[in-house]
Amino acid sequence: MARRATVVGSGPNGLSAAVALARAGYEVRVLEASSTVGGGTRTAALTLPGFRHDVGSAVHPAALSSPFLRAFGIHERVGWIHPLASYAQPLDGGRAAIAWRDIERTADALGPDGRAWRAVLRPLSRHLGEVVDFAGSQLLRWPRHPITTLRFGLRTLQLGTRLGRRTFTGEEANALMAGVLAHANTPLPSLGSAASGLFLAAHAHAADGWAFPRGGAQAIADALADDLRAHGGSIQTGARVSSLEDLDWGDPDAGDLLLLDTTPRLLLTHPELPARYARAIRCYRYGPAAAKVDFALSGPVPWAHPDVALAPTVHLGGTREEIEASENAVARGTMTDRPYVLAVQPTVLDGTRAPEGRHVLWAYIHVPAASTLDPTELVVRQVERFAPGFRHVILASHAMTAAQRAEFNPADVGGDILGGAFTFAQAFRRPVVSPTPWRTPLHGVYLASAATPPGPGVTGMPGWLAARQALRDAARRGHGERLELEDLFARS
Ligand SMILES: Cc1cc2nc3c(=O)[nH]c(=O)nc-3n(C[C@H](O)[C@H](O)[C@H](O)COP(=O)(O)OP(=O)(O)OC[C@H]3O[C@@H](n4cnc5c(N)ncnc54)[C@H](O)[C@@H]3O)c2cc1C
Repeated sequence: MARRATVVGSGPNGLSAAVALARAGYEVRVLEASSTVGGGTRTAALTLPGFRHDVGSAVHPAALSSPFLRAFGIHERVGWIHPLASYAQPLDGGRAAIAWRDIERTADALGPDGRAWRAVLRPLSRHLGEVVDFAGSQLLRWPRHPITTLRFGLRTLQLGTRLGRRTFTGEEANALMAGVLAHANTPLPSLGSAASGLFLAAHAHAADGWAFPRGGAQAIADALADDLRAHGGSIQTGARVSSLEDLDWGDPDAGDLLLLDTTPRLLLTHPELPARYARAIRCYRYGPAAAKVDFALSGPVPWAHPDVALAPTVHLGGTREEIEASENAVARGTMTDRPYVLAVQPTVLDGTRAPEGRHVLWAYIHVPAASTLDPTELVVRQVERFAPGFRHVILASHAMTAAQRAEFNPADVGGDILGGAFTFAQAFRRPVVSPTPWRTPLHGVYLASAATPPGPGVTGMPGWLAARQALRDAARRGHGERLELEDLFARS
């Protein structure tokens, strides 16, 4: 009889784990709480007929560099758009700084700061595979590329501390860097924000740039779900697991497996969870949240600086000081009235998401956990500031507060979209300090979500690493064989 694997949650990590196990010969079923598949990688009609919006993630540089998704063939299975401009940072007075895929073009436009921009990012983007090998898997191991790792570590120390304030002198370069460091939703400066910001900024200047799928993020989830079904797996939607006690997932002694693409807190519902591990899970911290709004537009956003229209991703928040004030306020549980806004305008390059001539805009702000703040007006005011007349192109909008997001996806505790605060400490303690953090003390049960290394982002890596751990442990007990990526995808 085939060994069985149950995966709870169909986010990119749950699906990646499910694909790996199905290809390894398991009979896999995925249980998904929502009525649709994909978790953070879903696309839906949220506003008007003919308009498609990414409900969660929108831009996917880390999917294209992910060892798991590369082996899976994500480059070929999904249609990708590679923008020339990875991200833009508009400034008051009709100015803007642009992170072009071409680092030379970026640096030239930054004047005297161009040299420092090159010095920080060129070695990392040139050796992106080595950066991903280190930062994109498990930090608690000896690095395979010590020079790149050391370089990444030193730059993290530089930009993650007050020292970083002396890296650039001009407003443009400072703001362009602050906009990417602020993704981490932590206080600024901090080591966690510097590590995640450098990882993303290095991708901006690498071959794929800040690419995204034609049609929306759902294409990534669909490609994984199709492969799972092609290998005999099934997905049951509308199946929320509230307690592990009630879940019949098979017999661990016979080699059956349970993988959780959920908050680690679900483990606390198991009566046999050892007290020490339970304490560690209770200590794992969630961070501030995201409040998002999607717009259907009658035309493009009327940016004051024309080059901003070439960048699908736009960081709105003005100067570095303003962005820092906004992020630090959120970390203290409050807000500024000019918040940092992460915006994506996919329709500048992808005409499939809206009727001809129309556009969509995706935007979120950071807010305190479980906030019920509707972000719409704050976002509209920030966009208007750099694109006067924006209000007049809005046809419809759809907002999701942090509290609503927590309801929508039980993995986003309090509306935290990163699977747990991305602080420096929690890059190592995810959710526990261990060389094998995917394995739990419950026999046959593994954590496979963004709450495990390497953490948030659409990479499938936490899911794959959890599945690999489960396969290794099973092989040690005489159930099946140890399999690596090349073995899985060498099969049809
Ligand atoms: C608004 C937003 C914007 C983002 N932007 C980007 C971006 O541009 N680029 C990027 O790389 N990343 C982005 N991210 C982050 C990225 O989407 C996540 O890091 C990633 O989706 C995590 O994958 P996951 O599989 O661990 O969890 P999720 O994608 O959250 O999936 C978890 C799934 O499990 C289900 N589930 C949870 N608990 C249960 C339960 N008890 N029973 C049954 N089902 C359950 C949920 O319904 C969900 O479908 C964004 C996320 C959000 C929400």
